[in-house]
Amino acid sequence: MEENKKQQQFLVLSVSELTSSSSSTSLFAKTEPVFARFGLDSGSTELRFGPDTESSDVIVFNLPTCQLFKVGPAESLCISEASEANKEKTYSRGISIQFRNEEESRTFHCAFEQWKKEVVVQECPLINGAVSTSKSKFDDKIEASSAKMYFHYYGQLLHQQNMLQDFVRTGTYYSAVIENRADFLGRVVVDVGAGSGILSLFAAQAGAKHVYAIEASEMADYARKLIAGNPSLNERITVIKGKVEDVELPEKADILISEPMGTLLVNERMLESYVIARDRFLVQNGKMFPGVGRIHMAPFSDEFLYMEIANKATFWQQQNYFGVDLTALHGSAYQGYFSQPVVDAFDPRLLVAPAVSHVINFSSVKEEDLYEIDIPLRFLSTVSTRIHGLACWFDVLFNGSTVQRWLTTAPGAPTTHWYQLRCVLPQPLYVMPGQEITGRLHLVAHKAQSYTIYLTLSALVGDMLQTSSVKLDLKEPYYRMSQPQAYSSAQDQQPNQLLQTQDMQFPSRDEDGSVLMQPPSPTSGLELHSL
Ligand code: SAH
Repeated sequence: MEENKKQQQFLVLSVSELTSSSSSTSLFAKTEPVFARFGLDSGSTELRFGPDTESSDVIVFNLPTCQLFKVGPAESLCISEASEANKEKTYSRGISIQFRNEEESRTFHCAFEQWKKEVVVQECPLINGAVSTSKSKFDDKIEASSAKMYFHYYGQLLHQQNMLQDFVRTGTYYSAVIENRADFLGRVVVDVGAGSGILSLFAAQAGAKHVYAIEASEMADYARKLIAGNPSLNERITVIKGKVEDVELPEKADILISEPMGTLLVNERMLESYVIARDRFLVQNGKMFPGVGRIHMAPFSDEFLYMEIANKATFWQQQNYFGVDLTALHGSAYQGYFSQPVVDAFDPRLLVAPAVSHVINFSSVKEEDLYEIDIPLRFLSTVSTRIHGLACWFDVLFNGSTVQRWLTTAPGAPTTHWYQLRCVLPQPLYVMPGQEITGRLHLVAHKAQSYTIYLTLSALVGDMLQTSSVKLDLKEPYYRMSQPQAYSSAQDQQPNQLLQTQDMQFPSRDEDGSVLMQPPSPTSGLELHSL
């Protein structure tokens, strides 16, 4: 197959005309190869068939009016208004195409769908002169600048490597697929956001009949390379470069596989793409790997963390900074630091009440349901302490027909590259053992592929209701991985749990370096927190 921007050419076994007498006649000499070439001619897309020689003997199909039907593993029908080259007359025409093999038929069908889309792209010039892509669901919701940065990030091998090196993550996917071979054997699989193609390769290892690996970033080219380097599997994988919202597939999938989880499960808003892929590609009652996700939440107490964040703003309390009074900005800086959710691995003994969970069923959730997620909170404190905020983590379920597997990012479990997330309140709450803590976690999706988080927690002190609220941007977390975990030294720490966080590479966006080193304090109050 030759490929460039303006043309894409396939060699096919033969092309024959469908006549009204329902017999078919071979159109070109049997001995010479026949090409099928997609191309763009004077602003319109077309599909040409002809002998692979310079010949006027060519059939031209106008792609926008053209339809393609698969009638056998390597045979398809193409019906369209057609015109003979250099002649005026047009009429309905049908041809039968014999491909050399099933794989080439599949690739041709994918190309056909992509080129048909090109029509919309090419034929809708915008007022500003730019060429429009057919405005997809993705483009409607997401700012172009955010999407550009996002796919640039995932187009780089180092970031795919970071995910691959999260062995908890990749190993759990591997086990979930291989131990549930029955769900993949002989099945059509779609890998939603394939990245390096690793999950497609797992699915092919598990015996998938065919895997469509859809990836929007430049990583799609690397995935093709990686897959080509695995000859026993590559015949059963087709990489398609594009967004799952836009690309077309020649057949439905029996099972979807994807790793769409971001921090707090929903960051990056890729779950929405996973759900769109479900609605576009999955057969009725098809399986999703994973099929369920849960966000878990519990109040925590962590004086060190609270002080660390509050102290970051003290810089702005200076009244004479080179003769300048900075205090006017102290309030804004304080608020700014508390608007960053904290990402790190914390000791589960910091939790002061059993967690509550919010379940998202990927098989049934509507895409719009993910635009706004409202979670009522109610906890019973197990200790007397100061509550500094809400700790959150998530897990996902691979509900295989042979075994169920959970991938968890819980505190105390082996650390993943997601760590955990904590929303810190600017005003802590005081609670007594057995006391009720109520509140709400309200997540509102925004156009930069993330969420605004509104957290409120309340507790009674005597007759008085103390309430503390904070607004955070999930897009701007404070990665706290280089922190010495002060509380680990005083307590009988679970082996390695916190050390592992130092080993992980994570795209740290904490560039200010203003880490406040606090020595371990005997008054950290941890002894109060065992559950
Ligand atoms: N499946 C791979 C990569 C997971 S990261 C693995 O498990 O290692 C998520 C990938 O999905 C990224 O490579 C990103 O570019 C891709 N992606 C995100 N949204 C997408 C969309 N709407 N369409 C296609 N690919 C998408």
